[in-house]
Amino acid sequence: MTVSRVVLASHNAHKLEELRRILTPLVTGLELLGYDGPEPVESGVTFEENALLKARAAARHTGLPAIADDSGIAVQVLGGCPGIFSARWGGPARSDTANVELLLWQLSDLADEYRAAAFVCAAALALPGGEELVVRGEWPGSVLREPAGAGGFGYDPVFRPEGETRSAAELSPAEKDAASHRRRAFTALAPEILRRLS
Ligand code: IMP
Repeated sequence: MTVSRVVLASHNAHKLEELRRILTPLVTGLELLGYDGPEPVESGVTFEENALLKARAAARHTGLPAIADDSGIAVQVLGGCPGIFSARWGGPARSDTANVELLLWQLSDLADEYRAAAFVCAAALALPGGEELVVRGEWPGSVLREPAGAGGFGYDPVFRPEGETRSAAELSPAEKDAASHRRRAFTALAPEILRRLS
């Protein structure tokens, strides 16, 4: 079997594990490698641009095909914010608690019908020769009135996926893995990786 070595353009070991779980069954012969090289300034104005910036930088640095993601929560009534600013919505400390508190306060007067949101993930592939592509996955749902659940991270405690009674932080890791925005984006990217790497 041919083994295809691909770099994940992230310093986050948890993300590497998560994407190995998602991609290994979908891309036969994939060996997904960690990355500790330089990371670019995320100067893009869309999830797609930022994912491409990261994948491109890692492909250049390593000379290997690279994948990357950029993700966040998009709230409809806020015109898609926090969006690409999700990690720092509550201030420069980039604290999950501060991010969630500010979002809940902003939406506090709104009825349930106006609390629609989606977790969004752009997944990019960049080849050392310059070819690149990016796809998007969305996990629709709504913003709860208060946090629920102790699992997950970020906005999980205040996000209720469509069709669920629980928050994303109350799902098991396997349930979240099966439905998440990252699952959807990388499931769409997987055939593109396979096509280029065999
Ligand atoms: P990153 O692109 O994975 O660094 O995520 C950016 C920010 O989006 C994180 O700091 C979180 O606040 C939020 N985010 C992204 N994915 C998730 C998720 O699966 N659950 C909760 N929050 C998320």
